[in-house]
Amino acid sequence: SEGKTTFMGVSMKHLSLVVLLLQNSTLVLMMRYSRVNVDPDQPLYLASTAVFFAELIKLLACVSVLVYTTKSLPRTFYILRKEILEQPKEIAKMLVPSGLYALQNNLLYIALSNLEAATFQVTYQMKILSTALFSVAMLGRRLTRQKWLALILLMIGVTLVQLQNVGSAKSSPAVVVVQDDADELDTDGVDLTGGDGVVDASATAAVVEEDGVTSQNPIIGLLAVMTSCVSSGFAGCYFEKILKGSETDMWVRNIQLGISGSLFSFLAMFYDRQKIYEGGLLQGYSTITWMVVINQALGGLLVAIVVKYADNILKGFATSLSIIISGIISVYFFDFEPSMQFQIGTMVVILATFLYGRPDAPLPGSMFGIRRE
Ligand code: C5P
Repeated sequence: SEGKTTFMGVSMKHLSLVVLLLQNSTLVLMMRYSRVNVDPDQPLYLASTAVFFAELIKLLACVSVLVYTTKSLPRTFYILRKEILEQPKEIAKMLVPSGLYALQNNLLYIALSNLEAATFQVTYQMKILSTALFSVAMLGRRLTRQKWLALILLMIGVTLVQLQNVGSAKSSPAVVVVQDDADELDTDGVDLTGGDGVVDASATAAVVEEDGVTSQNPIIGLLAVMTSCVSSGFAGCYFEKILKGSETDMWVRNIQLGISGSLFSFLAMFYDRQKIYEGGLLQGYSTITWMVVINQALGGLLVAIVVKYADNILKGFATSLSIIISGIISVYFFDFEPSMQFQIGTMVVILATFLYGRPDAPLPGSMFGIRRE
């Protein structure tokens, strides 16, 4: 079964989960940083173009994998023609998840422009619950009592981990706290002061300018996250059902998804057409912007791999562990001091993850009850 596939002796399931964990930890911090720490003389880069480029990069990467695995260009073209060009119905099936992902990928930038990284991460964990519920409803998956218990423990752990941040997070306008004390950090543990304790006033201004209001709007941020949670759970299970319900190669499926995804994210750029017309597609792009774009593309591919070798719920646990990795990064690089709650919460999350991952039923694949189509 898929769970047995190995890469250099490590099961693909574990390897993909660990890499996803690391990728996710850096993405949220980098994306938040890229939206807030900006050059005052530059316009803020347009999220819609970043999403579009990430989609193109993913598509290119998937085609490259096909070339690599077939070791032949003609063979690749044959597959592209036979399995993709001549299968409009299969691409049509992907309209639903790719449309949702295009929306979700844009919402992610809106969320992180309006919410602190920590507040964002807590709320975004709700997607584990929505994913579990959709897995039960759409994939006919049955969760044992042990797995439900793990889910509840996870929610408790995540809440504990984030309590200190949320408790002290500003729900009011200026999200960046200006401090005289050089050691003070932004509440989410990301130093927005450039290490000198002085917040670059333009950092806040940039987001302010983009929203066209005088502050970041936490309500808009929360709505964006909640919508993403529902979208993530539904799209993830929909894709998993299609992927595991047929023999079609994962990379072919991803190219199908990427084609309609590119189309949707292209259309999403119409929202910014005025700005694009005036300042071009790449306005405000910096090295960090490209790092975020590539990181997001990589993340998308990892999600696909994880869903293939593990499943959507395990993916949720891996990304929730990423809160802890972000925390550790913050400790070493941003002088973040974890509270008692943070440490206890961390242990609860780790415990929940192992509880969920512990086999308590027949091996995955035989127990999922996926109906063949
Ligand atoms: O958080 P979530 O698991 O919903 O993340 C989904 C992300 O992964 C989106 O950015 C989506 O575009 C990407 N994705 C992908 N290919 C898949 C599944 C998801 O690129 N097969």
